[in-house]
Amino acid sequence: MGKELAESYRYCPACGHPRESYEPVRPFRCSRCSHSTFFGPVSAVGAVVADNQGRVLLLRRANDPGKGLLGMPGGFVDHGETAEAALRREVLEEIGLTVESLEYLTSEVNSYVYRGISLPVLDMFFMVQVQEGHIELVDGEATSWIWTELSDAVLEEMAFVSNRRALKYYRDSRLR
Ligand SMILES: [Zn+2]
Repeated sequence: MGKELAESYRYCPACGHPRESYEPVRPFRCSRCSHSTFFGPVSAVGAVVADNQGRVLLLRRANDPGKGLLGMPGGFVDHGETAEAALRREVLEEIGLTVESLEYLTSEVNSYVYRGISLPVLDMFFMVQVQEGHIELVDGEATSWIWTELSDAVLEEMAFVSNRRALKYYRDSRLR
């Protein structure tokens, strides 16, 4: 785990005044100019791509965090982008397929540790139908892919707990 982004904040972004004390509260408030910075989570999306036999497409991660473990197509939402647009873009970027339809599934709390700083993340998951086509691992974020049933063993291989929880929710809601 890294240090939380809120904790690593040392200067007011509005006036440059050094932070005088660290209190584990959000938002950060500058003691000189009263500027506030909110440390809300950044948004990310994940795609549950299923085939007509109920198997799900998972990707073997090429990079840390979770190198060699399983992930799903997805990524961070860009500024000015909707969750749906981010999902369409990420699926196309990562597996080379066009999203035909999508339906909101659930959300999970996540964090992304990069260079010692832990970024709070809200993951939003969608069930996705893709157009027919050949999967191409376009952007190098995955080394291979599998179509798989969601067994407990497969879920254990997920790189992120949030992904595991969302897939378990998907699997269990289909069984009801
Ligand atoms: Zn200030």
